[in-house]
Amino acid sequence: MSITNELLNTVLRHAGQEVSRKEFLSLAGRGLAVGVAATTLASCNSGGGSGSAAEAKPGTPTTGTPAAEVDASTTYTAPGGQTVPSSEAVSPPAKVPAGVDQPIELEAWKSDVDPQSGPVPTPLPPEQRVGYAIVGLGHLSLEEILPAFGECKKSKPVALVSGSPEKLKKVAAQYGITPESCYSYQDYEKLKDNPEVKAIYIVLPNSLHAEYVIRGASTGKHILCEKPMATSARECELMIDACKKAGVKLMIAYRIQYEPYNRQVRDMVRNSKFGKPKYIEAQNSQSSANPEHWRHKKALAGGGALPDIGLYCLNTSRFVLGTEPTEVFAYTYSSPGNPLFKEIEEMMSFQLRFPEGVVVNCVTDYNTHDSRFYRVSAERGWIHVDNAYAYTGQKLQTSHAEGPAKMQNQITLSEKNQFAAEMDHFSECILKNQPPHTPGEEGLQDHRIMEALYQSAREGRPVKLPAVQGTDVFRGPEPKQA
Ligand code: NAD
Repeated sequence: MSITNELLNTVLRHAGQEVSRKEFLSLAGRGLAVGVAATTLASCNSGGGSGSAAEAKPGTPTTGTPAAEVDASTTYTAPGGQTVPSSEAVSPPAKVPAGVDQPIELEAWKSDVDPQSGPVPTPLPPEQRVGYAIVGLGHLSLEEILPAFGECKKSKPVALVSGSPEKLKKVAAQYGITPESCYSYQDYEKLKDNPEVKAIYIVLPNSLHAEYVIRGASTGKHILCEKPMATSARECELMIDACKKAGVKLMIAYRIQYEPYNRQVRDMVRNSKFGKPKYIEAQNSQSSANPEHWRHKKALAGGGALPDIGLYCLNTSRFVLGTEPTEVFAYTYSSPGNPLFKEIEEMMSFQLRFPEGVVVNCVTDYNTHDSRFYRVSAERGWIHVDNAYAYTGQKLQTSHAEGPAKMQNQITLSEKNQFAAEMDHFSECILKNQPPHTPGEEGLQDHRIMEALYQSAREGRPVKLPAVQGTDVFRGPEPKQA
């Protein structure tokens, strides 16, 4: 029996009742003329009246071609004479709202047994996106930030600032940036006259953040600044002040606070999923080899492992708990004679005492194999995140007891590019004139705590911090989850 006959028989067998979608699709997948079948099925289902497989509920905006108008041939002949199976191309019912921020709602097909996908992203048309000038074309800009614009929905790169004309030329061509929108550090303030630039992203060594934020603010553009915010709390205050006076927004690029796994942990802890949090253990370690790099010069980096990577243990703990430490204790070590650690600490082990007896125990190191995790121990369970501070690859596990069983779960979320999420949040703040979730004050608080940590390490004793009442005191409103 031919496949066409088989379908027709199926249709006739089911005349007056609904043909199962599975049965229909299995036949269609074998190369049937779906145009004929869909028309026939629709007429069977409607008792011989009009209708189509793509017909929508009343009031639902739809797109697509009615099935009945499509040629009923079952094969397509390519220009070379080859024959391939042909199916009718149609658009199933979809809700297509006019608002640029409202996602298209496609025909649903997944059961709630599996994780739900979507919503469909709502990228802004290119001319409506916020234009960024990227300042400094080193590892982070070239390897992470510029590629991340490909996943942005509200942000686009429009200008570059660098000391290297060769890099400017090559990178501008790669990302579609015009030669007129490439600037040297000396010409930095000329960004003021570039109407495409709405935001400046500072991706320079730490000691240059203060100067470039303050000079950037004078151009009237909003500023996104990499972490650590600066090399001292005093610099942070000057940066915040300059941006306030210039009437521009200042956000610190704490990507972890926009990353889905860490946000999930924050929600579980704040909602007391396993009771009250009691203790956090955190580690962020990596290995470096070039003593000439700015990360190993105190004047440029401000410190060693602590401000560069230990900061993630500190900032993420504050983010997850929402409260602020009241006392800190730290111990540092640098291997004698190792040129990498002549000026900066190789390792810092530190403790943060939070309200209600919560203790955070951290270690950060520039001379051990890559390790980036934390574990929140709560009254009735623990939450563990591996690769917590990495760009990708977060692994979230929990443990709790149910009767005689110890339940250990692995939670999988869809990953998001953290740099894209962070830049799009800042763009949203600019477009809607809202304060950012991680403003300069959030960076300043980290610097105050880091200064207390260095003091503790120097003096060999715990250092108290001013008590801060409330939660999320230094953060702006929650980012919208795109
Ligand atoms: P990098 O050394 O790779 O790049 C630094 C850039 O600054 C280079 O293009 C360099 O030419 C330029 N520069 C200008 N003046 C300089 C000077 N005096 N000395 C050295 N370089 C100078 O550094 P990076 O890893 O891209 O780090 C840049 C900033 O980004 C730092 O503040 C760092 O802490 C931060 N960072 C953040 C993340 C994150 O995950 N958010 C990751 C890495 C780095």
